[in-house]
This record gives sequence, C-alpha cells and structure tokens, in this order.
Amino acid sequence: MHYRDLSDHEVYVPGEGLVEVARELGMDPEELVALGSNENPHGPPENAIDAISSAASSVHEYPKSSHTDLTESLAKHWDVSPEQVWLSPGADGAIDYLSRAVLRPGDRILVPQPGFSYYAMSSRYHHGAVEHYPVSRESDFTVTDETVLEAYDDHRIVFLTSPHNPTGSVVTHDTIRSIAAQTDSDTLVVVDEAYGEFSSIASARELLDHRDDIAVLRTFSKAYGLAGLRVGYALVPDSWADAYGRINTPFAVNEIACRAASAALADQSHVEKTVSSAKTQRKRLQSELKVPTWESQGNFVLAEVGDASTVSDQLKQRGVIVRDCSSFGLSDCIRISCGTEQETTEAINAVNDVVAALSSSHGD
Ligand SMILES: *Cc1c(COP(=O)(O)O)cnc(C)c1O
Repeated sequence: MHYRDLSDHEVYVPGEGLVEVARELGMDPEELVALGSNENPHGPPENAIDAISSAASSVHEYPKSSHTDLTESLAKHWDVSPEQVWLSPGADGAIDYLSRAVLRPGDRILVPQPGFSYYAMSSRYHHGAVEHYPVSRESDFTVTDETVLEAYDDHRIVFLTSPHNPTGSVVTHDTIRSIAAQTDSDTLVVVDEAYGEFSSIASARELLDHRDDIAVLRTFSKAYGLAGLRVGYALVPDSWADAYGRINTPFAVNEIACRAASAALADQSHVEKTVSSAKTQRKRLQSELKVPTWESQGNFVLAEVGDASTVSDQLKQRGVIVRDCSSFGLSDCIRISCGTEQETTEAINAVNDVVAALSSSHGD
C-alpha cells in the first residue's frame, strides 16, 4: 500500500540549528551566533532547569497532576476557566487541536502570505484547504480588516499573527474585533501570540469575554526560553469546555515540560529580563543595520538585504545564523533574532560587512 496523496503538503522549513551548522562548518557551537529561530538568547530560567532535574526521577509516570497544575496556573494567569486552556506540544500542537476541533473535510482556512507555514500544514493534515490574504510590503506589512475581509469567503478559520512572523507587525484589537464581527458566526478567528510578551499591545485574551469565535495561541518557546520542551496552549471560548477531551492526544504535554513551564510561569523575572533585553537589541538592529528594516514588536527584525540566500550563506560562513526568508516568499529579506548584546553586535557587523562586500563586488 501507499500513503494518501500528500503532494500538496509542504515540509516545514525551520531556521538552521546551531549544532547542525557547527557540524557542517566543522566549528564549535560556542563560536556561532544563532539568531535564526527566535529562541531565547538568555537560555531557560534557572527555576525551570531545577524543575527539569527534579522531574527526571518521576518520568515513569504519566503526567497527570503536573498537567492539571499547569492548566490551573495558566487559567489563573489569564483569568479564564481551566477548560479554556488547551495545553499542547508547542503552540504548533494547539494549531492542530484547533484544526481537529473545527475543520470538517474540505473546509477552507485563510492564512497570511507571507506567514507562519504551520497553519497551512495543519489544515492539510486535517483534510482542509488553504487560501491566503496578502500581508503586503507596500503597506509595511500592516494587516487591516479590509485586506482580510476582501479575501474572506466563509472560511472556517482565519489566522492572524500578532506580532507577525516574519515581519514583526501587530494586529490591533479593533482590527481583530472588526474581522470577528464581520465574518460568519461559524468562522473561528485565531490570534497567534507566540511573540505576545515582546509586544506593547495587550493580549487578545480580553476579547474572549465578549465573543465565542476567537481563540488565542501562546507558547513557552520564545520569551520563556523552553522551545526544546515543546509546550504551548490555546485559550478558547468559554462554550468549548468539553471539546478538549475529545480531540487532544492523551497527556498532550509531557511531565518534564509541564513541571518546567509551571516553574517558569511562577517566576516572571526571566521573562521580564528577556523582554527588556529584546527591546534594546531590537532598537539596535533597526538603527545600526545599514539596510532597510521594519518596525517590529517581536524578538526579531526583518531586514532587506538583496539576495537573502547568498547573504545568509555568507553570514553562516562567518558564524552568524539568521533566517533566510525565501521560504516565506521574501527572497530579498532575512529575519534576525534579538541576541544578547554581544551576539547582536556580531550580527550587525557581519550583516553590514557582507552586504557592503556584495554590493561592491557587483561593481557599483
Ligand atoms: C514559534 C511560533 C509558533 C509556535 O512555536 P511552538 O514552539 O510550537 O510553540 C507559533 N506561531 C508562530 C508565528 C511562531 O513563530
């Protein structure tokens, strides 16, 4: 037998990993500056490291109480009921859970172009079809209700990313509210806030009190520094209380991840430090890079560098990993994560040098 027709499925293209690149270049990972995946440059919080070590001796048990504890802490944190918190393996897992809960075979979803590729992947896994609304450079990648509604045609899910990946732009609450109000009552508006902590606008969580067609995605992968554990969640409408048990993979988040995330949530000092450092380095990237950049509310900056694939390759040879945005459809842009002060300095110097060298070698 053969598996089903997967020809319209795309393979996820992650930012290049530190260890892979170090192996490829025959370098020590320590010598590299990894700014391609929007990871936390300050590492995981200390108390999460402690929680991970002490959880090691109980991994022979299913994560029962730890799952409940994390769900309850998140419910308190967001002032929602525990039933409204859908824990998942990364926010990616929450995208799958929403697809499972909402999509019927053949349903269509509406996603931003350029945008995060997993929305479309998940929809296809769940026998859905994918259509796009433009996030256009002409308008500095601003997402308005008009652009979304113009492309909207009774889609079952509309994905909004705020802050947006890879551009860093945000979607205002007025825009979200307007989209939710003007789309069908059977359309779910998902607001992906994977980078919410870095943004100056409030979470769309507050919109959940007034509507039953909005869900919010959050993750421990970015500001919390726990990407390797794969833990995230969706905040869903109050009326969805009994759906989670019907669609989730049993014990969605593992014991170690639950314990570490609970510890990280209980002490926000690491997140505060991370956010403040990211805001400082974001400003530096915008002012010190000698190439056009865009305003960003995330822990990264999008920069226009010419041939992104060549520039990324040359940066890599110099030990600086950035995200070539060609796979997002932006073949002249790279996305640079905010690193530590020193990493960011190295990245700024490397990008400025590489771009200058390439433009002089083109004879102008
Ligand atoms: C990183 C990211 C996610 C999810 O990451 P997880 O590691 O699966 O939690 C979701 N959406 C966007 C836009 C992201 O950049």
